[in-house]
Amino acid sequence: MKVPEIGQYVGSLIGQCLGDAIGFPVEGQPHEVCKEYVEEIIAEGPGLRARPGYIFGQYSDDSQLARELIISCITLRGFNPEDYARRIADIFSSGKVVGGGSATWEAAIRLSQGSPWHEAGTPSPSAGNGSAMRAGPVGLMFFDHAESLVRAAHDQSIITHKDIRCSVGSAAIAGAVALALVSRPFSRPEFVREISRVVATIDPSAEIAFSSLINWIDLEPIDAAQALVGSGYAFGDWNNWQGLTPFVTGTVLWSLYSFLHSPESYLETIATAVGIGGDVDTTAAMAGAISGAYLGIDKLPGELIPHLTDEGTWRLDELTRLSTELYNLKVVQRKLSAYA
Ligand SMILES: [Mg+2]
Repeated sequence: MKVPEIGQYVGSLIGQCLGDAIGFPVEGQPHEVCKEYVEEIIAEGPGLRARPGYIFGQYSDDSQLARELIISCITLRGFNPEDYARRIADIFSSGKVVGGGSATWEAAIRLSQGSPWHEAGTPSPSAGNGSAMRAGPVGLMFFDHAESLVRAAHDQSIITHKDIRCSVGSAAIAGAVALALVSRPFSRPEFVREISRVVATIDPSAEIAFSSLINWIDLEPIDAAQALVGSGYAFGDWNNWQGLTPFVTGTVLWSLYSFLHSPESYLETIATAVGIGGDVDTTAAMAGAISGAYLGIDKLPGELIPHLTDEGTWRLDELTRLSTELYNLKVVQRKLSAYA
């Protein structure tokens, strides 16, 4: 197995935060608006478009919670769902969460009121992408141990989302980041087969949905989006397409497609992830984590990453330091245990 490089760890966290920050100003907007906006950013830089009340570069709950997961893991030298649940509750009650989803909010309140981590999650049929969007770091932590990866992806998911489809989405993103770290040379069919195998360990019926990616990866984004909606894995009417809802399966599949369609270009991946419209801070955060893990920080857009901010904190320098610390602990010192 190829040993991951430090730039891939930094690239994954920064790639997640930047994708999130690019998508955040148009979160929930229709396809036409998102497509025009992301093409403008790529051609002309950040410009003046930002979410009201924020500057360009602000990232949201997706990346804030991924960052908290890394901090928890570094502090305890391993993954501990109880500690991570406490951090989720704390960041929500601090008022610092940016754009938090309703299922996570509800779970955070239950955690603050004393519910244990394995009971607080919002039950089915709620199946949003709130746990998949923060799962990238699980791939950085357990790229070399499939069993721990799946277990941690599932456990970190149920803290806020009890539906099994959310655990599947979390494992798919964690598995994709893990594979991206070690996949050179890169085989797209093998990548799809491996992700399908990972999700099948949680829910055998999920294998069909994830295997179907193989039929879409060579389609252009507009045709792939139509195929995704036609498959029933994303909600909506293609004849009146507004964009992806936060439903976990559709958004995770789109993020994987966005990466697999253009694995050698971070910005093309982000353009695809955002261009579909709808919950695009999350599609771009997930696709960005995978793309950054594959390409490394040096292939991310150097003119955009210095804008990253979380209301004046956790900018590029701090995020780089955090992901470097995780790399040192995991790859250099080998001091990261599965469960702490
Ligand atoms: Mg968000």
